Amino acid sequence: ENPSPANFIRHIINHDLKTNKHNGKVATRFPPEPNGYLHIGHAKSICLNFGLALEYHGTCNLRFDDTNPEKESEEYVESIKRDVRWLGFEWSELRHASDYFGQLYDYAVQLIKDGNAYVDSSTPEQIRTNRGTLTEPGKNSPDRDRSIEENLALFQGMRDGLYADGQYVLRAKIDMASPNINMRDPTIYRIRRVHHQRTGHDWCLYPMYDYTHCISDAIEGITHSLCTLEFEDHRPLYDWVLEQLNTPWRPQQIEFARLQLEYTIVSKRKLNQLVTEKHVSGWDDPRMPTIAGLRRAGVTPAAIRDFCERIGLTKKDSWIEMSVLEHCIREDLNQNSLRVMAVAEPLRVVIANYPEGQVENLTLSNHPQRPELGSRTVPFARTVLIERDDFSENPPPKYKRLVSGGEVRLRGSYVIRCDEVVKDAEGNLVELRCSYDPDTLGKNPEGRKVKGVIHWVSEAHSLPAEIRLYDRLFTVPQPDNEENFLNVLNPDSLQVVTGCRVEASLASAVPESRFQFERIGYFCMDKDSKDGNLVFNRTVTLREGWVK
Ligand code: ATP
Ligand code: MG
Ligand code: MG
Repeated sequence: ENPSPANFIRHIINHDLKTNKHNGKVATRFPPEPNGYLHIGHAKSICLNFGLALEYHGTCNLRFDDTNPEKESEEYVESIKRDVRWLGFEWSELRHASDYFGQLYDYAVQLIKDGNAYVDSSTPEQIRTNRGTLTEPGKNSPDRDRSIEENLALFQGMRDGLYADGQYVLRAKIDMASPNINMRDPTIYRIRRVHHQRTGHDWCLYPMYDYTHCISDAIEGITHSLCTLEFEDHRPLYDWVLEQLNTPWRPQQIEFARLQLEYTIVSKRKLNQLVTEKHVSGWDDPRMPTIAGLRRAGVTPAAIRDFCERIGLTKKDSWIEMSVLEHCIREDLNQNSLRVMAVAEPLRVVIANYPEGQVENLTLSNHPQRPELGSRTVPFARTVLIERDDFSENPPPKYKRLVSGGEVRLRGSYVIRCDEVVKDAEGNLVELRCSYDPDTLGKNPEGRKVKGVIHWVSEAHSLPAEIRLYDRLFTVPQPDNEENFLNVLNPDSLQVVTGCRVEASLASAVPESRFQFERIGYFCMDKDSKDGNLVFNRTVTLREGWVK
């Protein structure tokens, strides 16, 4: 039996398997349009479709819904494949709606022959006004009663490129008085002279989404065609097309609520606008809710899968709090990321009684709870760097870090005492003169308690770095509901901290490697890293609501 939590789609599938509704098969598909990068909303659909296929030993195709050539590109196709695989899934078959252009055309001819479709010369404007409203029925087009012969000839002419773009459309002949506006003779083909990234100039007419989707599902033998709630009103059309064509296979469309995540946006159109208007650095900007952006920020595939499982499936739209995603990220990174030391805002500490030129290679464990993750070497020397705010001249009550005359432990190293505070002529803090207790490596000092433990790096061995701190991209929880979402962009969503120093072991890190910078947060090495300036993105803070 299936160990996953119950949801209404699993109930439907279990029932269908029991009644042998689809010959005992489970076949799903994930059908993105290659007109942008995938976002966290798509991840919900990916985890659902591929997840169900795995769970029920069925299949899941990746199908590009490539019927809008103007907006589609090979770059998007490649990014989608990469992102699905990165999330941990592999498709049973790779398909394209454009693979079916020939069959879709033949099916359209069949609709015409059966009196179920007609060529209309109405302008898009006329089609819109004659569609009617929720309270008023639509008006029949004067072309609605064109003869089958004439329709066939005109449709062939459309195919042969005899007419201008927009001169004719093919419409399904259903019911202009239907209470469901989607059933009022929807357009199923339009003339568009545009190059298609796969079929080139083979076609000058392209099928519409609603017509293409159901037929593609039927051709692929999809059993459960899962889509978001806004398609509920399109389901009668989905079923109508397959019924008129009497296709041998009849998939079942099931709708679920789309993911909406607070403080961000999941609409490819708006994300595209952020990219093209340069409000962000690209589709993979770590502030973007795209899979590529999340990856660059350091989020793991496991965290995203966990998130998608936790939010569950419903039939009702709702907003998910960002803290739910962050919780999943933190849980995974806490378990799995290696600990290292980095100093964001360095303060020099000279350990006066430590021999000049001496270096000790200390061994620090990579993960306090997981010895199997090994250890690394961290050089200790006379001059170390500590965090500027780990020292205070006027410490607040309960301050456990370094103060004048006080002691603190350097993580994995010795206890040091601050003997002197060195300032420049203007009174700015320059460095601390300290002394160390040689008898405190791996053991407590004699006769006194030292509570504070701070992180550090050796000045000479550490590497220069820049860290990028990200905050939410928008200032309101539901930017989608704003009149103009650009008005609520957070101007402080990126803070760049330069002059940081990280421990020497990070010399071997590569972009996308993830770390916990002890006491600071979770970070991921960025592709902008160069020798002499490593760049790290903050994935998430150490604890909820704790922003340094
Ligand atoms: P967008 O509005 O961002 O352009 P879309 O639905 O037009 O999204 P598609 O490429 O057609 O984008 O989406 C592929 C699949 O992902 C569809 O089955 C769609 O229902 C699903 N999907 C898209 N957005 C979400 C979301 N926010 N939550 C859940 N599923 C989604
Ligand atoms: Mg779509
Ligand atoms: Mg869309």
